[in-house]
Amino acid sequence: MQSYNSFEVAQKQLRSVAELLNLDRATLELLLWPQREFKFTLPVKMDNGATNVFHGYRIQHNFARGPAKGGIRFHPDETIDTMRAHAGWMTWKTAVVDVPLGGGKGGVVCDPRKMSVRELENTARAYVRALWQHIGVDRDVPAPDVYTNPQTMAWMMDEYETITNQHQPGVMSNKPLSLGGSQGRRDATARGGVIVVREACKTFGVDPTGAYAIQGFGSTGQRLAMFHQNLLGGGTLIAVSDSTGAVFNKNGINPRELVSHKLRTGAVEGFPGSEPIDPKSILELEVAVLYPAALENAINVGNADRVRARIVCELANGPTTPQADRMLFEKGVHVIPDILANAGGVAGSYLEMVQNRSSFYWKESEFDDMLDATMTKAYHSVLGASRERSVTMRTGAMLVAVARVAEACKLRGWV
Ligand code: GLU
Repeated sequence: MQSYNSFEVAQKQLRSVAELLNLDRATLELLLWPQREFKFTLPVKMDNGATNVFHGYRIQHNFARGPAKGGIRFHPDETIDTMRAHAGWMTWKTAVVDVPLGGGKGGVVCDPRKMSVRELENTARAYVRALWQHIGVDRDVPAPDVYTNPQTMAWMMDEYETITNQHQPGVMSNKPLSLGGSQGRRDATARGGVIVVREACKTFGVDPTGAYAIQGFGSTGQRLAMFHQNLLGGGTLIAVSDSTGAVFNKNGINPRELVSHKLRTGAVEGFPGSEPIDPKSILELEVAVLYPAALENAINVGNADRVRARIVCELANGPTTPQADRMLFEKGVHVIPDILANAGGVAGSYLEMVQNRSSFYWKESEFDDMLDATMTKAYHSVLGASRERSVTMRTGAMLVAVARVAEACKLRGWV
């Protein structure tokens, strides 16, 4: 699917924002590259008795505002360049929501869909054995990402605590609740997305109770379906797709029933009362809000002119290509960019880290209120920047983020 090098795209994005900010050469050079990169091999015992050697990465893009922060993915297509791009995007994400963290990303090149639970555990533990000296509550705090989850974090945290002989739940975020996870963190990405949609609807006079569609029905997509109606006081979910198909009903799909259908059958297809549609057409429906919550490059030059949503809220990382982004801007579609739209996840991780440090855990409602305040403030600072310069919300978000990180680098005397 990915027809371009995402690290080159990320560097290009940064260069154009640096120009708007008149960033000096040294700061630009520093931010174009990760501050530290780790590459290691992981010998992992497989169930058949053989040892597989996987390749692992951890990229720490920037520490100026705080410890590196970002997910670890287990995915066969990862390369050092995808990791570098995502690590940089994490630096911008934490800066957009103004939490005191830097950015990082890591991964193992493997296919978890073909691995047993024991093999996944062995891989998670091997990853920490290779990297433990370079992560920690004040240095770098990983989280789940593509094909990893709270269980992966539990194994990683346990391996880290065993090696260091310390109780350190804050070394990983989005852990299971019984191991120092936070009430609210699991839902934070989807909740954050709906909060910024709420703000966009208010700002642009879009009726939040109109139609909405979701591309991608993994854990974030499923939560989105429900939160949209709960937080916005209504809305008609007319279409949902997943990796196997898509369903449509112009009179509305019940989110809760669709989630149970998906959990029961493994797919959205066949949901009673809905008709099957081409998954690609989901992006072209006339809706108030479209949530791309699946793959990269879903909205591209091939379909951007057919997008009929008023608001596009990017829950996935990188679902809109740079050219398509310009086309949507010219058509007047309000795109809430990924580094803002899905930043509820890392904003929630920050709240979990605070709780782990103080060993004091809040009620879910307190967590949700703090997340709401963070996301609302972030949305309006990005909107302000994009209006001031008449640029896309994506450029606006980058302007806010890069300025904050550049200031921290300068104040430290790095540049
Ligand atoms: N993996 C998520 C992201 O891409 C969460 C990262 C985190 O919480 O550190 O934003």
